[in-house]
Amino acid sequence: MKPGALLPHLRSRGWRVTPQRRAVVTVLERGAQHATAEEVHAAAQLIVPEISLATVYNVLTELVGMGEISEVRLGPRAAIFETNVTLHYHHVCDECGRVTDVPAPDMSTCLRSCGQGCEPQGAACASPVKCCLRLPELGSRGYSVDRVEIVYRGRCGCTAQ
Ligand SMILES: [Zn+2]
Ligand SMILES: [Zn+2]
Repeated sequence: MKPGALLPHLRSRGWRVTPQRRAVVTVLERGAQHATAEEVHAAAQLIVPEISLATVYNVLTELVGMGEISEVRLGPRAAIFETNVTLHYHHVCDECGRVTDVPAPDMSTCLRSCGQGCEPQGAACASPVKCCLRLPELGSRGYSVDRVEIVYRGRCGCTAQ
């Protein structure tokens, strides 16, 4: 979705736009990507000073429930929110904490075919990544896998001189 398009889109879905709600959406749209609820709250307070953290949480949770933004959990840190709802992975910088989107291939076909067990059936695996994910092994133990989340960790270049 283009920047600035989320609010009109939400309005067209019948979402009642209050000053508080508008502030949260504006913050997200201004590029507060991968921001925690606390960070969204701090930025939203610059627009609507009296907005509470609880309200920000409620708005974020509602938008996640509507499928308009996504909530991402990357390890032990607080959940982050973003307007990019397409499938993607994340790179997290060990040094500065920057979170960067990494485009991801849709592995659902892979998960399906491998869940049925290409290895146990003796079929040649056309794409080795399937077996690297241990899907046949999980499948043989009766586990199902619906999605894969990958977090790349390292440096983002912030320390490069
Ligand atoms: Zn960094
Ligand atoms: Zn992201």
